[in-house]
This record gives sequence, structure tokens and C-alpha cells, in this order.
Amino acid sequence: MQEYDIVIIGAGHNALVCAAYLLKAGYTVLLLEKRPLPGGGATTEELMPDAAPGFKFNPCAIDHLFIHLGPVVEELNLAKYGLKYLFCDPVVFCPHPDGKYFLAHRSLEKTCAEIARYSSRDAQKYAEFINFWKRVVGALTPVFNAPPKSVIDIAGNYDRAKLQDLLSLMGPPDRLLDFFRTLFTSSMDMLEEYFDEEFLKAPLARLAAELSTPPSQKTNAIGAMMMSMRHEPGMARPQGGTGALTQALVNLVKDLGGTIATEQTVQRVLLDDRRAVGVRVANGQEYRAKQGVISSIDAKRLFLQLMDAGDVDAADRQLRDRLSRRICMHNEAIMKIDCALSELPRFQGYNHRDEYLIGSVLIADSVAQVELAHTDPNIGRIPLEDPSMYLVVPSVLDPSLAPEGKHTLWIEYFVPYQIAKAQGTGMKGTGWTEDLKNKVADRVLDKLAEYAPNVKDSIIARHVESPPELEERLGVLKGNYYHLDMTFDQMVFFRPLPELANYKTPIERLYLTGAGTHPGGSISGMPGRNCARVFLGDRNSIGQAIADVSNSIFSTAKSTFGM
Ligand SMILES: Cc1cc2nc3c(=O)[nH]c(=O)nc-3n(C[C@H](O)[C@H](O)[C@H](O)COP(=O)(O)OP(=O)(O)OC[C@H]3O[C@@H](n4cnc5c(N)ncnc54)[C@H](O)[C@@H]3O)c2cc1C
Repeated sequence: MQEYDIVIIGAGHNALVCAAYLLKAGYTVLLLEKRPLPGGGATTEELMPDAAPGFKFNPCAIDHLFIHLGPVVEELNLAKYGLKYLFCDPVVFCPHPDGKYFLAHRSLEKTCAEIARYSSRDAQKYAEFINFWKRVVGALTPVFNAPPKSVIDIAGNYDRAKLQDLLSLMGPPDRLLDFFRTLFTSSMDMLEEYFDEEFLKAPLARLAAELSTPPSQKTNAIGAMMMSMRHEPGMARPQGGTGALTQALVNLVKDLGGTIATEQTVQRVLLDDRRAVGVRVANGQEYRAKQGVISSIDAKRLFLQLMDAGDVDAADRQLRDRLSRRICMHNEAIMKIDCALSELPRFQGYNHRDEYLIGSVLIADSVAQVELAHTDPNIGRIPLEDPSMYLVVPSVLDPSLAPEGKHTLWIEYFVPYQIAKAQGTGMKGTGWTEDLKNKVADRVLDKLAEYAPNVKDSIIARHVESPPELEERLGVLKGNYYHLDMTFDQMVFFRPLPELANYKTPIERLYLTGAGTHPGGSISGMPGRNCARVFLGDRNSIGQAIADVSNSIFSTAKSTFGM
């Protein structure tokens, strides 16, 4: 039996980040990945090698925001391992049916000038809105970059600027209460409070709903920060596609002596005397873990599918029930459409310029349309009447993704996982069939063609993936691209449940990381880094722990008071 200090289940980007920190600390690490390639939701693949050779697609993540709020890229020196981020500017383009369009640059001032072409009031309010969310992001960044229950770690992450952001949101008691009141509202409430113009509210609602909740969802106003992050720290893509991030991490992990084994589906976590001691994969092979097992797949899958019920019950009699019933999974999922194009989509009637296609392009005609794009899937309906979508033409920023003069198109369209009244039919009983997914893709492309009429004729080949197919590819439950819902009740020290929220579990030497842990899904590397810190903290001597605490208090004081 092969033996390592640590065995990690999955080799998505969070698992790789976690592995890198553990290898740097001197542990031997094995990552076991079920797919033929590592990366999970962070890959770049030739999806249609026969029909569209030379076109490289990002089947999942494309726009990277959160990773720039943390230290992973610099701390792991990923540039040395081949990673180069290309920042988008402009960052968002959204044409509106009445002929107006929202064009956001990375610069706040330039964006306000674009908005002022239609409304000087909204331009001024936009600056206020972004400024508010920039301060919220600044105040929260230290929390994202630490285990949620590690107060010292969080405190140590505050430098002078972030402390100023935090203090600016507080002030007298009524201001603080008003701040919390804002957080408890919905993004729709906030947009109504700030703006008059629909051409502006609709794209902001669409981006806020990227947390996968309708804009009207109370307590999820925080989604509105997605636009501010496109200004600061900015939105970027690895040159060569998202998979280039994974490749840099793989290069680093291998350089540090780590092992990545692909086509190894973990089926069982092995316990001995109530401690995690290894795993068994689908072909029966067992791998021993002397120091611990880390799961980058979420707690539901880990405890309900990969462990003996008796072992879980022996550690916590409530846990299986709480995981299966207390953690809610909405029915919203993504249909992904990737196309190889012979030419760029042209947004006629919107003063088309190719540079508009550098950032995220949104089809969001009204807040009501965006609302339906999220509420319909939740009750099993496909919002086909008037599709809203998020699309990217990655090859504009990075021509290496397509043969010369050609382009790639990435479309994300929200649909139900389980189609109403179709239970037990189609793929995995969800109601999805080849025919249905292609009809839906046709409708989505028809809608896009209302704005960019040349798009349909320019398609050389297309690849459409329905939610059950995404579920099959990545193993994520109900095709949930964040592993678990990103709602307020399941964030920070509630993610995935309070008793599992600090990357530890009731089973000794069994740890959790990945999108199902704080601070959640998307490309950030933060769950991976935070988990490694907890794992290493558990093994630190008391003397080292005291030294760490003093260092972090000293560095905070130094940056705040200039000591
Ligand atoms: C269509 C789509 C578009 C997205 N767009 C964006 C975007 O633009 N920007 C952004 O920031 N985020 C985006 N995301 C979300 C982002 O991709 C994920 O949240 C992120 O990749 C999660 O990373 P992870 O490492 O935590 O988990 P994963 O990437 O899910 O990695 C887990 C790994 O574990 C493997 N695995 C599962 N079960 C087993 C098993 N039993 N044994 C062994 N291995 C197993 C999986 O194959 C996978 O490789 C998108 C997601 C999707 C699906």
C-alpha cells in the first residue's frame, strides 16, 4: 500500500493550493482526481477536437476576481511556474433594448463618464455605490483570507487600509445599524435605492445574481459587490485560459515533490480507531495517509457518500441528518454553451467596437428579466421566454485560445437542474435530454442574435452541457458550481455547517477544503490556503503558535500605527 503524510480527495484548484502549502511545510502529499486531468472547475480543454481543432475552451470558470483579493498567486510565486494574468479593460458591456448600453471600464471615473451620457444623477450615484462596496470588500478581505473561527488570524490580516475601510462602515451606532440593515436587504432593493435607469440596474442585478440567488433575495445584498470588484482589484484571466492557473499549480506541486494521480475516484475514506487513515479508490487500491485526509469535495458528498454511516454516527449522531436536511440546495444550475466562431459577434446598433468584448458581456434587459432567470429555475422552469445570459469571447483578450482570426464564445445560462413534471425521465431522471438541451441552446443563441445578428452564421461548432452532464463531469451535487449554495445562512462560520466551519470535522485527522467551505465557490484558492493553515496549526508546537500570534499582532499594529 502506498503511504503519504496527507491524501487529498480531488485535484481542483483549491486542492492544489492546499497541497502546495503543505508540501512547502515538508509533508508528502498525494492528490487523487477522478477526471483524466486535474483542475476541476478550472480547466481549459479542446472540447471539440474533431469539429473545431485548435480552439481552446474554458468549460467552467473564466473571469477571475476573488483570487486577486488573496495572497496565493504571490505567496506561491505562481508567475515562476508559468502563470500570467491578463486584466480586462473594459470589464463589462451590456446592450439595452432601447439602444443605450452600459460600458464599464476598470477606471471608475471613465465608467461614470459612460453612464453620464444618459444620466448624470445615476453616474454620481454609481460612484457612491461602488465606493460603498469597495469599502465592504476591503473590510471583508481579511475574513476571506483566514479560517472563519480564527479571530487572531483574521485580525492579523488587517492592514491600515483595510482597517480604515472597516471603520468607515461603522461610526456612530445608527450608521453601524444602517450598514447591517443594508446587508439584510436584497441587491434589487439597493439598486432601486440608488439608480433610476434600467440600462444600469439590469446588468448590476445580473452580476449580483452571480451568487446564484435572484436579485430580490433578502439578506443577499452582498452580491452587489461583484461589480465593484471589477474596478478593484480588477478582473483577469490567465493567459492560455483558466487551465493555465491549474497548470502553474501542478508545476509547483510537482516541483515540491507532490504526486497527482488522475482517473482515481475516491470511494471510501478509511478509518482506524475513529481516525482518518487513508482512502480507497474505485479500482480497490488503498492509499495510506499518516497525518490526515483532506477532502476538497463538499461535506454532503464526503460524509453521505464516501463514509460508512456507522463511522459518521459514532463521531456525531446528528451529522448525517443535518447534512442531508439542514443544508439546502437550490435547483438553479448552469447550462454551458461553448462555440467556435469564424468571426467576432458584432453588436450592431451599439456603436460596436471589438474592445467591448474584452470583459463580461451581459444580456440583461431588465431587473425583472434577471429575476425570472433565477426564480424560474428554482421551481423547475426553463426561463426560455426571454433569456438573460452572461457571455465572454475569451479569444479577444487572449488570441492564443483560437486559430488565427477565429474566436471562442463562452455562454453561461441559468436553468433548473430538475425540470418540473419531468422527474424520472431523461439524464439522471432530471428531464434533460440531448434534444431539449439543444433546443434551449438554440433559443439562447436566437436571443443573442437579437443584439449580435451575425453570431449564428459564425458558429463553426458548438458544445452544450446540461446540468446533469456537469454533475457527472465534476461530481458536484445537482450541478452546483459552488458545491453548496452561496446564501447568507451558509457563508463564513455557517459554511457548510457551524460544527464543520473551520475546515475540521468530528473525525480526527479528516479535514475539509474546497468551494463547500469558507469563503466559498469561485476561483480564489482561499479555501485551500485557509485549510492548510488550520492543518499546520494543529501540528504546530505551542511555542510556534505563540510566535505566530505575536507576529500577526505586531504586523497589524505596524501597518496601522506605522510603528
Ligand atoms: C459553468 C461554470 C462557470 C463558472 N464560472 C466562474 C467564473 O467565471 N469565475 C469564477 O471565479 N468561478 C466560476 N465558476 C465556479 C468555479 O469554477 C468553482 O467554484 C471552483 O472551480 C471550485 O474549485 P474547487 O477546487 O473548490 O472545486 P472543484 O473545481 O469542483 O474541484 C474538485 C475536484 O474533485 C474531483 N472529484 C470529485 N469527486 C471526486 C472523488 N470522489 N474522487 C476524486 N476526485 C473527485 C473533481 O473532478 C474536481 O476536479 C464556474 C463554475 C461553472 C460550473
